[in-house]
Amino acid sequence: MISNTEVIDILNKIGDKIIEEKDFLTELDRPIGDNDHGINMAKGFTEVKKKLEGMADADLGTIFKNTGMTLVSTVGGSSGPLYGTAFMKMGMTLGAKKEMSLEEFLGALQAGVEGVGQRGRSTTEEKTMLDAMVPALNAMKEACAAGQEAGSVLAAGVQAARAGVEHTKELIATKGRASYVGERGIGHQDPGATSFTFMLETAAANL
Ligand code: ADP
Ligand code: MG
Repeated sequence: MISNTEVIDILNKIGDKIIEEKDFLTELDRPIGDNDHGINMAKGFTEVKKKLEGMADADLGTIFKNTGMTLVSTVGGSSGPLYGTAFMKMGMTLGAKKEMSLEEFLGALQAGVEGVGQRGRSTTEEKTMLDAMVPALNAMKEACAAGQEAGSVLAAGVQAARAGVEHTKELIATKGRASYVGERGIGHQDPGATSFTFMLETAAANL
């Protein structure tokens, strides 16, 4: 089981990682976007970290919902509402629980990933964060159903997310700002797929 205090700790570490990778994520957004993904995400997670300070006793629903609402309200770019929706959907799924099993985490993540697709009117193969999220989620569900322990399940997710990021290099974007550069985006990895992979790597390293 993963407790509320563990979730807060992991979200803080995800924030640290995103802040640490701010310049790299921004640089990825230069050739196929507007050079701000890392700036956007670091700004959002700086506020999330402040918000988490007062949440030590909160249930998982409250923790994830507040994380999502903070991202929506502080991030200017499209990644704010998209990641914000993902975290809010996770919160709605987990509700008043103060701890979650691996299956419950994956169920919440599934709702979050579906939320991104609804909010972004997007799906896989469009060179977005979904090209890391969906394969990662599928790999983790499969590993979990096969009875693997949490560490291997998360490791399978990280591996699939990294492969998804590599795959975005081959894709022509059909959603978001990267769609404006069309074929010229080939060879460049998607910033949002990369930031999601950093989040999952951080969760995997700290569970
Ligand atoms: P903006 O594009 O508004 O500047 P960011 O640079 O912060 O926002 O985020 C860009 C990332 O958002 C992209 O790399 C992509 O992964 C993701 N993204 C953009 N539009 C969509 C969408 N419709 N569906 C899913 N993800 C999207
Ligand atoms: Mg951008």
